[in-house]
Amino acid sequence: MSHAYDVVVLGGGTGGYVAAIRGAQLGLKVALVERDRVGGTCLHRGCIPTKSYLRSAELLHAMRRSTEFGIQAEGVSLDFAGVRARTAKVVESLHKGVQGLLRKNGVTVFHGFGALVPPSIFSPNGLVSVTAGDRQELLEFGKVIIATGSQPKTLSIPVDGTYVMTSDDALARPDLPESVLILGAGPIGMEWASLYADFGVRVTVLEFLERILPAEDDEVAAELHRLMTRREVAIVTGARVEPGSVRVEGGRVRLQARVGEEVREFTAAALLLAVGREPVTRGFGLENREQVEYDRAGFIQVDGFGRTGDPAIYAIGDVAGGGLAHVAAHQGVIAMEHIAGRSPEPFAPERVPRCVYTRPEVASVGYTESQARALGYPVRVGKFPWRGIGKALVEGSVDGFAKIVADARTGDVLGVHVIGPEATNLIAEAGLAMLLNATAWEVGQVLRPHPALAEIFGEAAMAVEGRAIHL
Ligand code: NAD
Repeated sequence: MSHAYDVVVLGGGTGGYVAAIRGAQLGLKVALVERDRVGGTCLHRGCIPTKSYLRSAELLHAMRRSTEFGIQAEGVSLDFAGVRARTAKVVESLHKGVQGLLRKNGVTVFHGFGALVPPSIFSPNGLVSVTAGDRQELLEFGKVIIATGSQPKTLSIPVDGTYVMTSDDALARPDLPESVLILGAGPIGMEWASLYADFGVRVTVLEFLERILPAEDDEVAAELHRLMTRREVAIVTGARVEPGSVRVEGGRVRLQARVGEEVREFTAAALLLAVGREPVTRGFGLENREQVEYDRAGFIQVDGFGRTGDPAIYAIGDVAGGGLAHVAAHQGVIAMEHIAGRSPEPFAPERVPRCVYTRPEVASVGYTESQARALGYPVRVGKFPWRGIGKALVEGSVDGFAKIVADARTGDVLGVHVIGPEATNLIAEAGLAMLLNATAWEVGQVLRPHPALAEIFGEAAMAVEGRAIHL
């Protein structure tokens, strides 16, 4: 049976479902095709369940140090099944919410495997076929938005889900390994290192580069490295793991890595691969659309509105190199508004907040200090430690700092970096400052409540001009 839609969205993750809702709001007839559950990686295998685990980990940590706050708590222990049950509840509640929103907005959801059928004289754009069991439906479209997401890279290491895991497997497993080797010190590797450590798992992180969190400011990464090491997480940088050396023997994983001149053997109860994610672009007919182009890493090339080289095809989110749920959702709205003939602002990658939900959290927006210098900006930096903020002491969370990178000539804020309590919430204020092209002086002028964690931005901004009050 064939149906006609203005837009067919392929993939119901954060990018796809948000795009579909925005399209329906704009009066377009929208179909959303999803082979699994709407909500995608973020809701079912990514952001939401890991943040739920991290919340339990943080609470456990807080309860263990409760005597510092004058509270005697005895017999505090981890019930991992309980952590998993709560996480499942959170996910299911949000899943129901997304389903309800799609219904309410009049988006037609097709559950099944979606594929692009090549153009013919009857359908010059092509069609989307949706296959579920032995049923197939054909969808005509004006435009297609590819929102098929990404999957974990495995470096061709055989994954069995128990000894060798991706983050999908780590979330699916019902128990905790006694010890773990984590390959890769990006956001996924470090978040798992943080929650595993709080849950009592012995953690060793092996990172190929000479530093952790390569996307973050050097000083922020060095601070997280120091703080995680203090929590007895072993971090080995400059570790070239030989994928072929990974083997499972006697219930343990072993592997070899070259570290400097040495070849070292590492062993643990499990290995977690956190070496990045790759786009899902193959196996559903996109390869036949010759005008769609890819970059060297295999991501679909798009312009600021999500247009590919094929006039009928847009792409958003991880498949187009986004890598973050909030980027996917934002790009989805822009693409749909563009299709509907509105004039959205094109996507501005320099305004994307980056968030790592470790303990303590890391968050940033804009250029790091070394990026700004490499781009030739005359740079002035303001840095302020949490130990100078009253509310941080009240909270019992004084590690880390905020850092503002500004243009020394104009005072414009080029980047904001935070490591410490509530960093992932606080960074939103910095995002607004970047959107409004604020100078450090203007950020310093904002009247902030006292006591509040947000005061750190005022102090860091004033530190750019050497006039922080509490330093
Ligand atoms: P990543 O690319 O950010 O980091 C992977 C790390 O693995 C890098 O530091 C890299 O140098 C290292 N690496 C690669 N090959 C290696 C090897 N052979 N041996 C040792 N180290 C190696 O990838 P990720 O952390 O897996 O995250 C994947 C995507 O998901 C990213 O786009 C990330 O931004 C996103 N993500 C974001 C969040 C967040 O914002 N909180 C959380 C999870 C994931």
